[in-house]
Amino acid sequence: MAVSGRGPYDPQNIFAKILRGEIPCRKIYENDHALAFHDIAPKAPVHVLIIPKGAYVSFADFSSTASDAEIAGFTRAVGQVASLLGLEDAGYRLLSNMGVAAGQEVPHFHIHLFGGAALGPMLH
Ligand code: ADP
Repeated sequence: MAVSGRGPYDPQNIFAKILRGEIPCRKIYENDHALAFHDIAPKAPVHVLIIPKGAYVSFADFSSTASDAEIAGFTRAVGQVASLLGLEDAGYRLLSNMGVAAGQEVPHFHIHLFGGAALGPMLH
Protein backbone atom coordinates (compact mmCIF):
# COMPACT_ATOMS: atom_id res chain seq x y z
CA MET A 1 0.00 0.00 0.00
CA ALA A 2 1.49 3.33 -1.04
CA VAL A 3 2.15 5.90 1.66
CA SER A 4 1.56 9.62 1.86
CA GLY A 5 4.82 11.39 1.10
CA ARG A 6 3.79 14.14 3.51
CA GLY A 7 2.81 12.18 6.60
CA PRO A 8 4.67 12.20 9.93
CA TYR A 9 7.94 10.24 9.96
CA ASP A 10 7.51 6.64 11.16
CA PRO A 11 10.72 5.60 13.00
CA GLN A 12 9.71 1.94 12.59
CA ASN A 13 9.93 2.04 8.76
CA ILE A 14 12.30 -0.52 7.25
CA PHE A 15 14.96 1.97 6.14
CA ALA A 16 15.05 3.52 9.63
CA LYS A 17 15.73 0.00 10.95
CA ILE A 18 18.53 -0.44 8.40
CA LEU A 19 20.06 2.90 9.47
CA ARG A 20 19.96 1.80 13.13
CA GLY A 21 21.57 -1.53 12.20
CA GLU A 22 18.52 -3.49 13.37
CA ILE A 23 18.21 -5.27 10.03
CA PRO A 24 21.01 -5.95 7.56
CA CYS A 25 21.61 -4.46 4.14
CA ARG A 26 24.16 -5.02 1.38
CA LYS A 27 25.97 -1.71 1.81
CA ILE A 28 27.77 -0.09 -1.11
CA TYR A 29 28.69 3.35 0.21
CA GLU A 30 28.18 5.60 3.22
CA ASN A 31 29.09 9.18 4.14
CA ASP A 32 28.01 11.51 6.97
CA HIS A 33 24.60 12.13 5.43
CA ALA A 34 23.74 9.13 3.25
CA LEU A 35 23.76 5.35 2.99
CA ALA A 36 23.58 3.31 -0.24
CA PHE A 37 22.70 -0.39 -0.45
CA HIS A 38 21.40 -2.94 -2.93
CA ASP A 39 17.62 -3.18 -3.36
CA ILE A 40 16.32 -6.47 -1.96
CA ALA A 41 14.17 -7.09 -5.06
CA PRO A 42 16.22 -5.70 -7.97
CA LYS A 43 14.33 -4.51 -11.04
CA ALA A 44 17.50 -4.10 -13.16
CA PRO A 45 20.95 -5.80 -13.11
CA VAL A 46 22.07 -2.93 -10.85
CA HIS A 47 19.39 -1.56 -8.51
CA VAL A 48 20.66 0.49 -5.60
CA LEU A 49 18.83 2.62 -3.05
CA ILE A 50 20.43 5.78 -1.69
CA ILE A 51 18.87 7.18 1.49
CA PRO A 52 19.61 10.19 3.68
CA LYS A 53 20.55 9.43 7.29
CA GLY A 54 18.08 12.04 8.55
CA ALA A 55 14.39 11.32 9.16
CA TYR A 56 12.72 12.47 5.91
CA VAL A 57 9.51 10.90 4.62
CA SER A 58 9.89 11.77 0.95
CA PHE A 59 11.57 13.99 -1.60
CA ALA A 60 9.11 16.77 -0.77
CA ASP A 61 10.10 16.57 2.89
CA PHE A 62 13.85 16.26 2.21
CA SER A 63 14.06 19.03 -0.37
CA SER A 64 12.15 21.50 1.77
CA THR A 65 13.55 20.79 5.25
CA ALA A 66 17.03 19.17 5.02
CA SER A 67 20.08 21.36 5.62
CA ASP A 68 22.33 22.41 2.76
CA ALA A 69 25.03 20.09 4.15
CA GLU A 70 22.64 17.13 4.14
CA ILE A 71 21.46 17.88 0.60
CA ALA A 72 25.05 18.22 -0.59
CA GLY A 73 26.18 15.04 1.20
CA PHE A 74 23.25 13.06 -0.13
CA THR A 75 23.64 14.33 -3.70
CA ARG A 76 27.36 13.58 -3.71
CA ALA A 77 26.64 10.08 -2.40
CA VAL A 78 24.45 9.38 -5.44
CA GLY A 79 27.29 10.38 -7.75
CA GLN A 80 29.82 8.38 -5.74
CA VAL A 81 27.71 5.22 -6.00
CA ALA A 82 27.43 5.56 -9.77
CA SER A 83 31.18 6.08 -9.97
CA LEU A 84 32.01 3.16 -7.64
CA LEU A 85 29.81 0.86 -9.69
CA GLY A 86 31.44 2.01 -12.96
CA LEU A 87 28.19 3.22 -14.46
CA GLU A 88 29.16 6.69 -15.61
CA ASP A 89 30.05 5.82 -19.21
CA ALA A 90 27.19 3.40 -19.83
CA GLY A 91 24.70 5.62 -18.02
CA TYR A 92 22.10 4.96 -15.38
CA ARG A 93 18.66 6.07 -14.23
CA LEU A 94 17.66 7.86 -11.02
CA LEU A 95 14.09 7.69 -9.74
CA SER A 96 12.27 8.68 -6.58
CA ASN A 97 8.64 7.82 -5.93
CA MET A 98 6.91 10.57 -3.96
CA GLY A 99 3.68 9.64 -2.22
CA VAL A 100 0.57 7.71 -3.14
CA ALA A 101 0.29 8.60 -6.84
CA ALA A 102 3.82 7.37 -7.51
CA GLY A 103 3.43 4.23 -5.38
CA GLN A 104 5.95 5.10 -2.67
CA GLU A 105 6.00 2.11 -0.32
CA VAL A 106 8.73 2.89 2.20
CA PRO A 107 8.14 6.19 4.04
CA HIS A 108 11.80 7.22 4.22
CA PHE A 109 13.08 9.28 1.28
CA HIS A 110 15.14 7.22 -1.16
CA ILE A 111 16.46 7.44 -4.69
CA HIS A 112 16.53 4.32 -6.83
CA LEU A 113 19.59 3.98 -9.07
CA PHE A 114 19.12 1.55 -11.97
CA GLY A 115 21.81 0.43 -14.39
CA GLY A 116 23.77 -2.43 -15.87
CA ALA A 117 21.57 -2.82 -18.93
CA ALA A 118 19.94 -0.82 -21.67
CA LEU A 119 16.91 0.51 -19.81
CA GLY A 120 13.58 0.95 -21.54
CA PRO A 121 11.84 4.31 -21.71
CA MET A 122 10.17 3.68 -18.31
CA LEU A 123 11.12 1.37 -15.49
CA HIS A 124 9.14 1.08 -12.28
P1 ADP B 1 8.07 0.54 -4.65
O1 ADP B 1 8.02 -0.64 -3.74
O2 ADP B 1 6.78 0.79 -5.38
O3 ADP B 1 9.27 0.57 -5.53
P2 ADP B 1 9.40 2.59 -3.14
O4 ADP B 1 9.80 3.62 -4.13
O5 ADP B 1 9.00 3.04 -1.77
O6 ADP B 1 8.18 1.79 -3.67
O7 ADP B 1 10.60 1.54 -3.08
C1 ADP B 1 10.89 0.75 -1.99
C2 ADP B 1 12.02 -0.16 -2.41
O8 ADP B 1 12.61 -0.71 -1.25
C3 ADP B 1 11.57 -1.34 -3.29
O9 ADP B 1 12.33 -1.34 -4.50
C4 ADP B 1 11.89 -2.56 -2.41
O10 ADP B 1 12.31 -3.68 -3.16
C5 ADP B 1 13.00 -2.04 -1.51
N1 ADP B 1 13.15 -2.69 -0.23
C6 ADP B 1 12.18 -3.01 0.66
N2 ADP B 1 12.71 -3.59 1.76
C7 ADP B 1 14.05 -3.62 1.57
C8 ADP B 1 15.17 -4.10 2.34
N3 ADP B 1 15.00 -4.66 3.56
N4 ADP B 1 16.41 -3.99 1.83
C9 ADP B 1 16.59 -3.43 0.62
N5 ADP B 1 15.60 -2.96 -0.18
C10 ADP B 1 14.34 -3.06 0.31
